[in-house]
Formats: sequence, structure tokens, C-alpha cells
Amino acid sequence: MKKLAAGNWKMNGTAASLAEVAALAQAHPAPACEVLLCPPATLIAQMAYHAKGTPVKVGAQDCHANASGAHTGDISAEQVKDAGAGHVILGHSERRTDHKETDAQVAAKTLAAWRAGLVAIVCVGETEAERDSGATLDVIGRQLAGSVPEGATSATLVIAYEPVWAIGTGRTPTLAEIAEVHHFLRERLTARLGADAAGVRLLYGGSVKPSNATEIFAVANVDGALVGGASLKAADFGAIVAALSAAA
Ligand code: PEP
Repeated sequence: MKKLAAGNWKMNGTAASLAEVAALAQAHPAPACEVLLCPPATLIAQMAYHAKGTPVKVGAQDCHANASGAHTGDISAEQVKDAGAGHVILGHSERRTDHKETDAQVAAKTLAAWRAGLVAIVCVGETEAERDSGATLDVIGRQLAGSVPEGATSATLVIAYEPVWAIGTGRTPTLAEIAEVHHFLRERLTARLGADAAGVRLLYGGSVKPSNATEIFAVANVDGALVGGASLKAADFGAIVAALSAAA
């Protein structure tokens, strides 16, 4: 399995930010892991152009479940693919919160991603209140069951464990807490997919930065990271790519 360093630019970046792609590719021309950047939709096509011939792959941050139609402001998986993306992040906690996305909607979008030939990066994660009440594994199990439809394979599915309270806060779970959730995810996926579950990349996300990447990548069943803030600058994201390459 090739590990995956995925960057989520969220609603950040303009054409000027694309210089980061060249800087990243120049500093890490042959990483031992997969490298993915998911810019805002406005930059997907341009980034795909800039990333051609480099190890940097391009993804989207969301897609609609339908292939086309009257959905003003939305973008289909087919359009994402056509713009040059190969991956799409689905069910990020900011979409679950800001747009009230449900597990069923995330599952429908995941099917759409597969229909278009995209790899789906499905996000799960508990809130702070859920962790404090001891409900973490219940929440993760429910989100995983509801958000990942039948038909998943290690080639088409990546899971990102992102505790909501760790996203953009500078706080992270303990390594033991990350290990517990990732072990749980692997077990649940094995129950559904059998031996192929061993090849599903399980990313940790939530305040990953150069200073904590190496210790997080040493945790069992952590096969990479989904990185927000620290993916915006090539120097920071490159250091995370280097840490994951060293762990590969
Ligand atoms: C994210 O948005 O997926 C994320 C993990 O953000 P950050 O790295 O900034 O916490």
C-alpha cells in the first residue's frame, strides 16, 4: 500500500497560490508516498495543469450526487473528474456542519465519485462532546456504516479520521487515542471488505503539522494524513510529505 499525504486547501487560494505546487514538486520530486492537493473548485483545472508531470495529484473537496441537472452552485463528480481531479473529499466535518450533510448524502456522493472514476476520501470524526461522553467509537462506527456504500475497494476508498475538535485548533488526540480509532476502523472495514480492507488507506486529520507528523505516522494503521492549514505552504506540507515518505 502506498501511503497518502492529502492537503485540503478549503476556501483558501487564488491563482497566485499555484506557485506552491511547483515549489512542492521541486522540493519532493520522487516522494515514497502519494501526494494530493485538494484546492477550491475554482483552481482544480489550473492546478491539474501545473501538476502535470509532477508527483502531485489533484482532488476536489466535494461533489454533488447527481451527474448533471438543476443544482445551482453545485459540481458533479463527472465535472470534477473532467477538470482534472482523481480524488474527492466527502463528508468533511465542515460540510456536515455548514451544509447539514448526512451520512446518507455522503454515501450517495461516494457512489457518484465511483461512478465518475474518482477515489473517495470519506471523512469521519467525533465532536468534543461525543469524545467526552465516551461515544467516540459509536459515532465513528455509525458514520462509517452510513457513509460508505457497498462496493468499496482499497483502490476506490480512503477513510480520513478527523476528530472535529482537532481540526484547525492546534489540538490533537493522544497517539493512543488515534491508534484506538484507526484499529477500530480497520476492524470494521475488514468485517465488510475482507482481506482487501488491509489496503484501504486510513488517514489521520486534525492539526497535523511538521512538528507532530513523524510521531503520528508511527502509529499503527495510520497510512497518511489529511492536512488543512499546513497544506497551504509548500514548505510545511513538504515537511509532512517527507515525514510520511520516511515512514513508508
Ligand atoms: C482538515 O480540514 O481536514 C484539517 C485536518 O484541518 P487542519 O489540518 O487545519 O486541522
